[in-house]
Amino acid sequence: MAARTLASCIFCKIIKGEIPSFKLIETDLSYSFLDIGPLSKGHALVIPKDHTVKMHELPDNYLADVLPVAKKIAVALGAENYNILQNNGRIAHQEVDHVHFHVIPKPSATDEEG
Ligand code: 5GP
Ligand code: ZN
Repeated sequence: MAARTLASCIFCKIIKGEIPSFKLIETDLSYSFLDIGPLSKGHALVIPKDHTVKMHELPDNYLADVLPVAKKIAVALGAENYNILQNNGRIAHQEVDHVHFHVIPKPSATDEEG
């Protein structure tokens, strides 16, 4: 199935390069980039190239592509402590209606600031 896209979606625009982003890893099925409002240094987002609002609606091949990418980012960041976060629906704090996985490093007290 060809990837679905929504012209008004900011994450679809990022995938198409219509909105600039700091790209990390791109595969045939996913795109990852730094979060514009990072909760910590290296906070990244991994998104499927298919425009789907919620994770349970996402075709399995896209879903299967995302976690190995999140793993590569966690390894590349050298993050020993991190959260993988994925919000679905407003009440669950989903602000952008295009499936995304957060990779959020949790620096320890001894990690360098900045
Ligand atoms: P949510 O609350 O939907 O799980 O998280 C959406 C995330 O997308 C937020 O952390 C927010 O900072 C990020 N975000 C929203 N718009 C943009 C954008 O235009 N560029 C980037 N890089 N991140 C964005
Ligand atoms: Zn989209």
